[in-house]
Amino acid sequence: MGNRVRFAPSPTGHLHIGGLRTALFNYLFAKKYGGSFILRIEDTDEERSTAASTQAIFDGLLWAQLTWDEGPMPNGEVKGAYGPYYQAQRAQEGVYQKFIDQLLAEDKAYQCYCTPQELEAMRTQQQANKLPPRYDGRCRRLTGEQKEAFKAQGRKPVIRFKMPKEGETKFTDLIRGEVSFANKDLYDLVIQKASGIPTYNFAVVVDDHLMEMTHVIRGDDHISNTPAQIQLYRALGWAHPIMAHLSMIHGPDGTKLSKRHGDTSVIEYKKQGYLPQALINYLALLGWSTPDSQQLFAPGELEQKFDIAGCQKSPAVFDPVKLQWMNGEYIRGLSKDALYEAAKPFIDEAGFAAGADTERLKDIVALEQEKYKTLKEIPDLISFFYADVTFDEAAVEKVFKQPTAKAALEAAIAKYEALDSFTEQPLEEAARAAAKESGLKAGQIFHPARVAVSGRTNGPTLFKMLEYMGKDMVLKRMRAALGLTV
Ligand code: GLU
Repeated sequence: MGNRVRFAPSPTGHLHIGGLRTALFNYLFAKKYGGSFILRIEDTDEERSTAASTQAIFDGLLWAQLTWDEGPMPNGEVKGAYGPYYQAQRAQEGVYQKFIDQLLAEDKAYQCYCTPQELEAMRTQQQANKLPPRYDGRCRRLTGEQKEAFKAQGRKPVIRFKMPKEGETKFTDLIRGEVSFANKDLYDLVIQKASGIPTYNFAVVVDDHLMEMTHVIRGDDHISNTPAQIQLYRALGWAHPIMAHLSMIHGPDGTKLSKRHGDTSVIEYKKQGYLPQALINYLALLGWSTPDSQQLFAPGELEQKFDIAGCQKSPAVFDPVKLQWMNGEYIRGLSKDALYEAAKPFIDEAGFAAGADTERLKDIVALEQEKYKTLKEIPDLISFFYADVTFDEAAVEKVFKQPTAKAALEAAIAKYEALDSFTEQPLEEAARAAAKESGLKAGQIFHPARVAVSGRTNGPTLFKMLEYMGKDMVLKRMRAALGLTV
């Protein structure tokens, strides 16, 4: 059987950068070593799980093109033979209950009737005694009578697992090497809530076993759960999958990645004009590298080169500037058609090019391809080809207030009115001739011409821009701009 790995998000919010990185490493692992990438929705938190979050997970993964071999599909269908892939549904179908019953029957788990107030009082007492706050196991040995008395008070029990108190729990992590935890630091964790729903730590063990996962690749924030999970595997008589904990992602200031570092939802990156392939390339390097520190990967190359041995233990630093650079690299690598397709939603949203000639629009979008860092910048950079010119005040001040600006525009207008072939080279030659004949420097014509047609001092190469704008628009704008000169 091939490897089986999973991405197991809890649908309690957006799919974030860290989640997508975990999904990606599992995906790459499955592709590299031959295996299946499985999506499982861990919706055991009844209060915080939402259908909208599950949808956001689907949307984010599909946009990033991390397609899963098994799991729930957005259209309600299910792929794979190990379903259901929603834990809430598995709980309803009784998947976990028999293992809870097994642990109870073998005296490896017990009913705990403590109320939240009692647990709180226990914690306060422990803190006062400078002890680490954790469940003290007081319900481990309740008599039948005590249980009946609690039940008579209307208390509903949770089920706790009897954690060993002595010795160590060790495991070999593919990334971190030998890891060991002292069992005295573990505690009798709740494995089933009073509602009958299993907790994360229990459900994850049962499902990874029943779904025959060979490897568990997840964020380092879960490493402290691993010894407890390993104890559960042992208690249930199962071997545990091979563990691999990915380094944490930090912001440039060295603290855990948060919203202010750019840890927004994956779909927000789509909205900000990132290409999925650029984001994926960037995320692949958050905690992994090739021996020669390769930065950019051709399509399909990551799947080949990914190697779990190249994953690092130390935190990876999320650098939005590098991500933006990489996005620019990917934008530059697009064909003219692909660039247009990628930019289209942004241009459509801006609205000014509705009904425009597509082939011309493609040329216009490609004019400044070298410069774009995100797709979102494109509409503003090309808007003046379609919408009315909005003059940048500083440009007007700097260029049109020159005493030569008026004469320069008049000379250019005269040449361009007479020009039949309104294409790049003749446009440039005519402008140079106009300068010469009026005793001006070339720049003294070029700058006012640029501001007149675009309102800006920067933009695409001037004569290409004039060519794509066309004679009528160029002349109309140049004549109108005369009114702004002194
Ligand atoms: N459901 C867990 C989470 O969203 C992941 C569990 C795991 O990978 O073991 O953090």
